[in-house]
Amino acid sequence: MSQAEMIAASEGQEAEARHPALSSYAARDGCLLIGETPVTQLAERIGRTPFYAYDRVKLDTRIALLRKHLPMTIALHYAVKANPMPAVVQHLRGLVDGFDIASPLEMQVALDSGMSPRHISFAGPGKQPWELRQAVAAGVLVEVESETEVSRLAEVGEALGIRPRVAIRINPDFQLKASGMRMGGGAQQFGVDAERVPQLLGELRGLDLSFEGFHVFAGSQNLHAELIVETQEKTVELLLRLAQHCPAEVTHVNLGGGFGIPYFPNDKPLELARVGEALAELLPRLTAEMPKARPIIELGRFIVGEAGVYICRVIDRKVSRGEVFLVTDGGLHHHLAASGNFGQRIRRNYPVAVATKMDVPSEETASVVGPLCTPLDLLADKMTLPRAEVGDLIAVFQSGAYGLTASPTAFLSHPQPAEALV
Ligand SMILES: *Cc1c(COP(=O)(O)O)cnc(C)c1O
Repeated sequence: MSQAEMIAASEGQEAEARHPALSSYAARDGCLLIGETPVTQLAERIGRTPFYAYDRVKLDTRIALLRKHLPMTIALHYAVKANPMPAVVQHLRGLVDGFDIASPLEMQVALDSGMSPRHISFAGPGKQPWELRQAVAAGVLVEVESETEVSRLAEVGEALGIRPRVAIRINPDFQLKASGMRMGGGAQQFGVDAERVPQLLGELRGLDLSFEGFHVFAGSQNLHAELIVETQEKTVELLLRLAQHCPAEVTHVNLGGGFGIPYFPNDKPLELARVGEALAELLPRLTAEMPKARPIIELGRFIVGEAGVYICRVIDRKVSRGEVFLVTDGGLHHHLAASGNFGQRIRRNYPVAVATKMDVPSEETASVVGPLCTPLDLLADKMTLPRAEVGDLIAVFQSGAYGLTASPTAFLSHPQPAEALV
């Protein structure tokens, strides 16, 4: 089997299967192309390894796919935390309808891109008064996550003489089942419990706040269309139940997202068409009750995850008691998720390839490790790869989301990786 076929076929207990996301990558003379550029040339352009490279054409294609399958009435928001690189956010500014941010620095990047504050919403528990001041001064929508936050927001508005825009983030009484990360349902630090929302809406009437609507986010990294559809139905039902309690007309309805991407060989890509069809059937019920609201789907990894690749270089090739270790200049400190330590229950290999040997058959079992003094620093565990030598480049795919900024770059004090939008 050539590496082109093997490219993402992780070894081990799981059946080897071609990774669906990687069919979009080409090679020339055995060298992986990123955009149109051979990865070796890109490494020269950037001047060093390791680096993350994000492909703007892949971002365009991804948004086009979403627009094709989701109803026209849906507004598409990008969750900046998935990849806050300013050039990426800037590029997406022309492609999506809004940004969801989770900190003042993300807000800065979002505003710098030229996105109107009307289309920026700020979520996240524990927003401090100074953060709320910045948000209110900017004119972005604050998605409050507690009763405390509501009174803080009102105080900030009074101090600034600006009427804050507010929506309530709801912790629903259901969850998005089989998600990589559960962020709604049961007891949560996120949002206001659904059963307390009517009372909070009553309190809003007495405050100088401009109420706009709701935000429900029930989970993340979900590959099951039927579960996403079920959650969206429950979300709409919840919102319809709350409609009668609202102090003003609802203009903002964020239905969440949670669309996942396939990381591992047995992961099946999400059937986006099914989600889109179900939404098209569901939305009229919502818009009948809330005609001024354009429902929002907010996505992070689904937009950027497959557009990014992490590249590092083989610094040493070691054989220890019969096992091959490719020691690279990259690792857990740059790409925590690929090491399996970013919330995964079981460690599985991300799709990995020897980017400079794409035409060479995969014939040896090797582990790709980094320079850190911890056995957790593992990018590929006993994968079948072409024989790699010192100087070869290693590619970790599906790395466009929760890469650099989700990694402990200060751990062991090595240099930061570079980033490029290609
Ligand atoms: C993290 C987060 C997202 C993005 O999640 P993805 O899995 O990257 O799509 C969206 N909304 C909220 C509220 C989040 O916290």
